[in-house]
Amino acid sequence: MTELLNPFKIAQQQIHEAGKYINLDPALEAIISEPKRVLIVTFPVKMDDGSTKVFTGIRSQHNDAIGPCKGGIRFHPDVTIDEVKALSMWMTFKCGVVGLPYGGGKGGVICNPKEMSNGELERVSRGFIEAIAVIIGPDKDIPAPDVYTTPQVMAWMMDTFSRLKGSNQFGMITGKPLIVGGSLGRTEATAQGCIYSIIKAAEKIGLDLNGATVAVQGYGNVGYIAARLLADLGCKIVAVSDSRGAVHSDDGVDPSHLLEHKQETGSCVDFGACSLITGEDLLEMPVDILVPAALENQITAKNAHNIKAKIVAEAANGPTTPEADKFLFKNGVMVIPDILANAGGVTVSYFEWVQNLMNYYWTKEEVNTKLKALMFDAFDKTYMTSKEHKVDMRTAAYINSISRVAEAIKVRGHV
Ligand code: NAD
Repeated sequence: MTELLNPFKIAQQQIHEAGKYINLDPALEAIISEPKRVLIVTFPVKMDDGSTKVFTGIRSQHNDAIGPCKGGIRFHPDVTIDEVKALSMWMTFKCGVVGLPYGGGKGGVICNPKEMSNGELERVSRGFIEAIAVIIGPDKDIPAPDVYTTPQVMAWMMDTFSRLKGSNQFGMITGKPLIVGGSLGRTEATAQGCIYSIIKAAEKIGLDLNGATVAVQGYGNVGYIAARLLADLGCKIVAVSDSRGAVHSDDGVDPSHLLEHKQETGSCVDFGACSLITGEDLLEMPVDILVPAALENQITAKNAHNIKAKIVAEAANGPTTPEADKFLFKNGVMVIPDILANAGGVTVSYFEWVQNLMNYYWTKEEVNTKLKALMFDAFDKTYMTSKEHKVDMRTAAYINSISRVAEAIKVRGHV
């Protein structure tokens, strides 16, 4: 049988698997197995060469039983409807794991930002938000950054939405620059939350983080900051990859120097005395901690039995397939599932939204203290459920968050 790699089907399977442990009502399963609303838009953009190009974008709103939909916008040539639908479902369950008053949403534009000028990027950002403006807003659906979208992109999107509404709408999007309603700690939030979950996981398996070896797949916003924060805790970052290749050094790399190299050359490859390895090699390295921080379907049935890490902390969304999950669980690998490991991003996005609505802003210490408390609590609850039902951490995270969403749907009288 060929392995299931369609992220939407995977998300549905994950719901089904977890649902068995809580006798999930079939009607409830049917409701949460599909997004409530998916909007597909096309919008014209004037390109620098004078031509007009029509872009396609998608916004999926999975569920809003607990609160407005929440989730990032991805700019990538491989964006598909099924991917965006799956990502919006994962957002519902991610918010559920941490206990945020949100449902899940996600957006994507099929484009290649690497081939676009700054002006083209701005016009695509503004064009997409104008096209989906009818279904988003601070009390309906609040986007955020994701792959290849930045605080600057969020600022353009907020500005366009504000112009459409005739007043500043800071609470319509998160991940904004500080000067226009961003939150302190948001840039680091996803990686910081991931580190809090790694600290807890290391405690559970008796791993000393001081001197622990780490491989990081993807050296963007999340991957780089995770590497830096882990190095601050005494970990040795022995391998790093990006879309152009992977590098390895037994002595460990300095994450900040590697970032400078990537900013100068556009890639992690050819860094210092590092040897060049393949992206596949990186995943199978004998390290204590593996942090996938790139895209989906990286750990599959093909390579799962070769994964040697003790902890896999899924900073990325959907990096492990259900087939691979089974291998990893059997082999005793502690997988911190995406909906828990990378929930720090949406948690501080929630803090940003709360600050926007209050128009009162917190210090970085306040943000991090609140983030740490929520992440530790979410990890403990997930771990307890995994022990109670004798299941892996992913199934446990789904059990907890599906129970929460199901209760809201039931009490609202939808089933
Ligand atoms: P980013 O665009 O800043 O970085 C992505 C990185 O992945 C880049 O370095 C890119 O070169 C690399 N990459 C792409 N394809 C690769 C491949 N095949 N092998 C190795 N590296 C590859 O994006 P990001 O914001 O860091 O997001 C990374 C992951 O984290 C995504 O799965 C995203 O959904 C997830 N995530 C991000 C946030 C957030 O706050 N940014 C929150 C939750 C989850």
